Amino acid sequence: MASTGDVRRLFLQSLLSRGIVSEALCKTLYAKCVEAVKAANDDLNIASADTDEAFDEVIKQLNVSLNDLDLEIKSTQDELNGKRSFALVNTKDDELAQMATDYTPAEIVFFKAIVDQIMLARNEAFSLSSMAALREVSNIKPKSNMTKTQAETVLASFVAKGWLLRSKRGRYSLSTRTLLELYPYLKSTYGDELLYCTICHEVVTKGMGCHRPNCQVRLHFHCFNLYRRRNSACPTCKIEWPRQATDDPLTAVGEAAVRDGDDGKRRVKARRTNGDEDEDEEMEADSSQPSQPSQPARSQRNKRGSKKKAVADSDEEEDEEEEDEEVPTQEDSPPPRRRSSRR
Ligand SMILES: [Zn+2]
Ligand SMILES: [Zn+2]
Repeated sequence: MASTGDVRRLFLQSLLSRGIVSEALCKTLYAKCVEAVKAANDDLNIASADTDEAFDEVIKQLNVSLNDLDLEIKSTQDELNGKRSFALVNTKDDELAQMATDYTPAEIVFFKAIVDQIMLARNEAFSLSSMAALREVSNIKPKSNMTKTQAETVLASFVAKGWLLRSKRGRYSLSTRTLLELYPYLKSTYGDELLYCTICHEVVTKGMGCHRPNCQVRLHFHCFNLYRRRNSACPTCKIEWPRQATDDPLTAVGEAAVRDGDDGKRRVKARRTNGDEDEDEEMEADSSQPSQPSQPARSQRNKRGSKKKAVADSDEEEDEEEEDEEVPTQEDSPPPRRRSSRR
């Protein structure tokens, strides 16, 4: 005989089989599970979660029962459009086991190397050019025999399966899926590097930052828009903000924060050849194309650089900068790496 527990079991199974789902689909799945169980046992009195509050309550109750298993139904908002997605995630697993069924150990090492470059990108750019991503193949340890062509295929697969985003400009960044499902890994590996939105308290890798030096406020675009409708000043330092998240003098978090040559100035040692540098410059020249519509214009990046310089001068962790001198740069002075701890 079907019981209320069957609704939960069916719902969890459907979440598991789908991975990350939109909020609308998540609600539909739950409604279908209720329907199916009611069809089997008409006497059951199961609340249909047709309001937001009722649905939140369902998720909350499920999470109580999942807690002992280190599982949780988590949701996060897409950083580019603000839409919410849900997934059943392992809250303890910080070893990317989620990817083990689809990828070889060498491919997972490659993925980690890409994530590393994205997380440690200068100027809070949280993105990596295609050239720099491919170059990571030769740096992974233990040495893999993955060719660049194979690496291109694997990169395309990371994008197709939703682990990475690839922008129009050809830069890789973290996806909603990665932020949601791989958060334990990101947290344990980059605890100090993660930036959190002042409004929604979720990780920010695409958005804006307050332009006052040392002000820690970072917001997603959608959180900025929500906040800016009612407030004109920074929630922390109270400096006046312009209307749009992409307006000067606000700073950029994400691809729009990239400055020329940043990808050639990564902090990991001994990895470039001159040929690669040339390719990188071509990539950067491309960047005058419009990128993602919600992102700031290029002119803004220089401001970020000068602000960051002021910030990083007082940063005690400068030890990873040593290779900067050998890197050609178009700037008067090389921009510092983004500071490594913020909260
Ligand atoms: Zn936010
Ligand atoms: Zn501020």
